[in-house]
Amino acid sequence: MSTETIFSKIIAREIPADIVYEDDQSLAFRDINPQAPFHVLIIPKTPIATINDITPEHASLVGHLYVVAAKLAKEYGFAEDGYRVVMNCNEHGGQTVYHIHLHVLAGKEMGWPPY
Ligand code: C5P
Repeated sequence: MSTETIFSKIIAREIPADIVYEDDQSLAFRDINPQAPFHVLIIPKTPIATINDITPEHASLVGHLYVVAAKLAKEYGFAEDGYRVVMNCNEHGGQTVYHIHLHVLAGKEMGWPPY
């Protein structure tokens, strides 16, 4: 199965994205269809299709995505009020792009449960 998704094209700069952060392991960009005043996706540069495909070898990389989430939340001023970090998995989880990504949503009070 190909691991190429639209996010591979964003990493390769083949399609545009509003990039807010990049390092050797990850890229963060604003969601094209924001669900909160601040809605950023953080993706690993190594494609992993779903949470189900995460193995122990990915532990540091996946942990790194959360380090970036915390950094961006602080940088954009949402750390104190709070924010939500979500990763959807497969159809019932609402996943549409099969390259794992953290959604970081902030700037309004979120509801719970999330449906
Ligand atoms: O969790 P899920 O897979 O549904 O999230 C995919 C997200 O990618 C959506 O929120 C969608 O708006 C976003 N997206 C994007 N830029 C694209 C394609 C999708 O921000 N070019």
